[in-house]
Amino acid sequence: MRVYLDNAATTPLDKEVFDAMAPFMLEHFGNPSSIHSHGREVRSAIEKARRTVATLINTSPAEIFFTSGGTEADNAAIRCTCRAYGIKHAISTKLEHHAVLHTMELLEKEEGVQVSYLRHDERGNLDLEHLEELLASQPRTLVSVMHANNEIGNLNDIKAIGEICKKYDAVFHSDTVQTMGHYKHDVQTLGANFIVGSAHKFHGPKGVGFLYCDANIKIQPLIQGGAQERNMRGGTENVYGIIGLAKSLEIAYRDMDDHAKYIQSLKDRMIYKLREQMEDISFNGMSEFGDKSLYTVLNVNLPASEINEMLLFSLDINKISASGGSACSSGANAGSHVLRALNVDPSRGSVRFSFSKYNTEAEIDYVAETLAKLYKKELA
Ligand code: PLP
Repeated sequence: MRVYLDNAATTPLDKEVFDAMAPFMLEHFGNPSSIHSHGREVRSAIEKARRTVATLINTSPAEIFFTSGGTEADNAAIRCTCRAYGIKHAISTKLEHHAVLHTMELLEKEEGVQVSYLRHDERGNLDLEHLEELLASQPRTLVSVMHANNEIGNLNDIKAIGEICKKYDAVFHSDTVQTMGHYKHDVQTLGANFIVGSAHKFHGPKGVGFLYCDANIKIQPLIQGGAQERNMRGGTENVYGIIGLAKSLEIAYRDMDDHAKYIQSLKDRMIYKLREQMEDISFNGMSEFGDKSLYTVLNVNLPASEINEMLLFSLDINKISASGGSACSSGANAGSHVLRALNVDPSRGSVRFSFSKYNTEAEIDYVAETLAKLYKKELA
C-alpha cells in the first residue's frame, strides 16, 4: 500500500475529467481564435466551460478569465489592481501562499507600494480590528487575504473581511485556491472583488486556473499578446485544461456534500488515532477544529526528536507521501514561513496531511500507526 496524503499540494485527476478532456487533445485540436469550423467548435467549448464555472460560483461568464493556474490569477488580481488604480497601500498577511506574499514583496520593491500585514495570534487567527484600523488611516487600499491556508488549513472569515473592505472602499482579493471545489462559493454574497481557482486542487488538470474579476473593477491584462480572454490574457488558450477545469469543478459541486462529510470523517479519524497512539502531540493553527479549518488539511505538531530532521523521508520510505511543515529555517528545505510566523517551536516536528475523496479509513489507520511507530523507534 502506498498512501497519498498530500492533496493540498495536488490531487489525482478524476477519470471522468480525463474522459472529458481527451477529445480536445485528439479530435478537437483547432485554435479557438481561428474562424473556420475547427476553431469555432473549440471556441464554443471554451465558452461553455466559462458558463459552467460562472454558474457554479453564481456570476456571469463575463467575469471569468482562464489563467495558467492560481499563481497567475493571484498575480493578475494584485498587480493589475495596483497598476489600474494607482494604489500605493496594500494589506495582506504573513500567512499567505508565496503567490501572494512574493507578489506583495515585489510591489513594495518595484512599485513603491507600502504593504501592511495583519496581526494574528499564535494559531493564525487574524485580527480584523487591525484591518479596520489600517483601512481607516489609509487612502484606497488593496486587501489580499486568503480564504483558507494551505499549510495549517485555517479558514478566514471572508464575508466579514469583505464587509470591512466595502465600508472603506478597498478592493478585496481573496486567494481561494484551497477552498475552490471544496466549499460552495457564491460571489454575490462573498464580498470579494477577486477570487481564484486552480483545477489541480480539485481533481482537475495542472497548469490551468481562473480569475473571477468583479465587473466593477477595471484592470488591464497581466500578460500582453493576442485578444484572447476578451483582451484580458494574451496567449492561445489551454483548451483541454479549460475543459478539464470546468468538468472537475462541476463534479466537485455535484458531489460536494457527500465528499466533504466523508473527508472530514477521515480527518477526525486521523486526529483520534494519533491522540490514541502518541503522546505529546498537538495540531498547528486551527487545523484540529472542524468549523475553523479546511476539512482537507491537518497539520500535526510532533515531539522534539532526531527523527524530525528526516521525517518526510522516513514517511516516504514507509510508503506515505505527505508534506513538510518544518519551522526550522536552516538547511536545503528553507522551512515553512507560515509555521515561523506562528512561532512554532522549531525543535518540534510538523507534518501536513491533506486528504481527498480517494483516501480510505485503512490508509488513515496505517499512517497513524506508522507515525507512532517511527516516534517509538520501532521503525526506521
Ligand atoms: N494559493 C494557494 C493557497 C495554494 O495552495 C496554491 C498552490 O499550492 C497556489 C496559490 C498556487 O496555485 P497554482 O499551483 O495553481 O499556481
